Amino acid sequence: MGLIICDKHGETGFMPFVSKELAEKIIANEPLGNKGIKFVEVIFIDEDDGEEFQQLHYWMSQKCFDSLSPKESYVIQSDEDEVELDKIFDPIMKGGGICGRCFENYLESNSENGVTH
Ligand SMILES: [Zn+2]
Repeated sequence: MGLIICDKHGETGFMPFVSKELAEKIIANEPLGNKGIKFVEVIFIDEDDGEEFQQLHYWMSQKCFDSLSPKESYVIQSDEDEVELDKIFDPIMKGGGICGRCFENYLESNSENGVTH
């Protein structure tokens, strides 16, 4: 996790896997209401030993998820898989990312609406 300077939290951990539109909503503190928040699971498998070495969640609004209509999870095992993944998610993830603490606070304050997978 890299570091960023947050207006609210000062120097803090950066949460990179938040879509641009969701990050903008968080910064504006715009509630998502019953539209909810979604994440897509991305599992990285080591090409050599077949072991899972990283699992990420790509966060986005339900609305964004619906318009992109990706799968619920992706398994990335090769460079080609990664290229495919980037093709799907670059349009929404590029320019995204947010202060990790702002993100946590936002999830908490929206949790009554349910974070769905
Ligand atoms: Zn913050």
